[in-house]
Amino acid sequence: MASSPTLDMPNARETLRATFGFDDFRGRQAEVVERTLAGKSSLAVMPTGAGKSLTYQLPAVMLEGTCVVISPLIALMHDQLRSARANGIRAATLTSADADWRETQDAFRAGELDLLYIAPERASQPAFRDFLSSSKLALFAIDEAHCVSEWGHDFRPDYRMLRPLMDAFPDVARLALTATADGQTRVDVMAQLGIPEEGLVLAGFDRPNIRYAIRPRDNPVRQIAALMAERPGPGIVYAQTRRKVEELAEKLAAATGRKVLPYHAGLPAETRAANQAAFVASEDMVIAATVAFGMGIDKPDVRFVAHVGVPKSVEAYYQETGRAGRDGDPAAAAMFWGAGDFATARARLAEVDEDRRNAERARLDALAGLVETAGCRRAVLLRHFGESPPESCGNCDNCLDRPAVTQVTELARKLLSAVYRTGQSFGLGHIQKVLTGANDERIRQRGHDRLSVFGIVEGEDALLLQPLGRALQARGDLVPTEHGGLALGGSAREILTGAREVEIVVPPKRQRRSRGGGSG
Ligand code: ADP
Ligand code: ZN
Repeated sequence: MASSPTLDMPNARETLRATFGFDDFRGRQAEVVERTLAGKSSLAVMPTGAGKSLTYQLPAVMLEGTCVVISPLIALMHDQLRSARANGIRAATLTSADADWRETQDAFRAGELDLLYIAPERASQPAFRDFLSSSKLALFAIDEAHCVSEWGHDFRPDYRMLRPLMDAFPDVARLALTATADGQTRVDVMAQLGIPEEGLVLAGFDRPNIRYAIRPRDNPVRQIAALMAERPGPGIVYAQTRRKVEELAEKLAAATGRKVLPYHAGLPAETRAANQAAFVASEDMVIAATVAFGMGIDKPDVRFVAHVGVPKSVEAYYQETGRAGRDGDPAAAAMFWGAGDFATARARLAEVDEDRRNAERARLDALAGLVETAGCRRAVLLRHFGESPPESCGNCDNCLDRPAVTQVTELARKLLSAVYRTGQSFGLGHIQKVLTGANDERIRQRGHDRLSVFGIVEGEDALLLQPLGRALQARGDLVPTEHGGLALGGSAREILTGAREVEIVVPPKRQRRSRGGGSG
């Protein structure tokens, strides 16, 4: 293990220059490197693009022995391998995709490897433990460490096997790395991996050059075409299903005349690789993709990331939007959401194991909080990661154009009563018609024109029913039924009894651009 850290840091700076070609450490890299060289275990939480790889690669070069890197995706490993080797670092991977196992094993035993990348499932194999004992280890680096926690958004059971493996090498320091861990996940990751509390290094999460905007979705093709016109460089459009991805790619290309290619797991591997390569090389291409796209892609000049539909969580949103503007130049993150996105996600809660359901629900509530805030988006994001940001950032939709917050408790009560009195089995469209007293055959057939709630909403209030319905669904106060209707949920009863007030955010100008983008 390394001797005194104070002696090592000048050497570390020298290696930083000589091996990596950088003049200085960025953010809190130096601290992580210093701890690691001193043989201390750490959890480094740093945003995407902060330079996490360097914090284990540099010690790997300096320390005697091999640094074992655990990484969840083979594609990610091979990217890392390429860039490490380009810097002259002696690195290898042991994955199912490698043909040169024998050479790699020999090189490891001969002490000729700085870095050895492995997949977590190796960790559970006793033979692999014996193999690791056959040479000197410098460090365990655990990439995407949030995968070890059920609180994280990407739990991978294989990560749980790392602890027993590492415990077999008690003198080897551990460096866990992640871009996405909220407080609860951090504590859990450290406990699961045996990293002491004082080992947490939490770097700033702010990405000041990214402008955040979150808007209700009306016509995604038109909305994204407008964004593309505003930000002419490369962009990523995330959609939730393969079908949606294909459709968006086609319609966006037709609407804008720009090159827009699809990327999702259903495409042949060659097409995927070709589309990804074209995107990485291009200066103006847009890729429509499922979330399968983006991990480990080093493209610094992405000018926008758009979401059609809501991401899985605030962490996922931060990570996905973090792929924009890694070069530091202005970039945009735009989400276009609909009430149905939350309804679907909340309906899925029923299928989740009971012990995970609360965590999942909390995740959705946090996401709804971000989507629905009238305050600064950046402040909500940064507070989510435990920071204390200023109230206003000046570079998000809400800071640039404050939306109005409207008290709608009375209207919410009317809406919820109508849902209740019609038997909790109709969609928002029908409920709106009942409340506004529409002259409608279906309403008469059901006798809903004789209900006390028929026609009790008029004028301006009628225009608020849509955003209110959306907000109540996002919050879980209205939940979807199996047959596509709405039922009372969450705090609906408190609202009905007057124990809870309801406010909604009304977007400032509801821009209406000329039609022509086609609908989506
Ligand atoms: P992360 O894994 O945290 O998302 P990477 O390790 O991929 O980030 O690093 C992001 C980019 O920052 C890479 O291009 C890397 O070469 C660069 N980088 C890392 N450390 C430094 C530094 N100290 N100075 C300048 N650039 C750096
Ligand atoms: Zn702001």
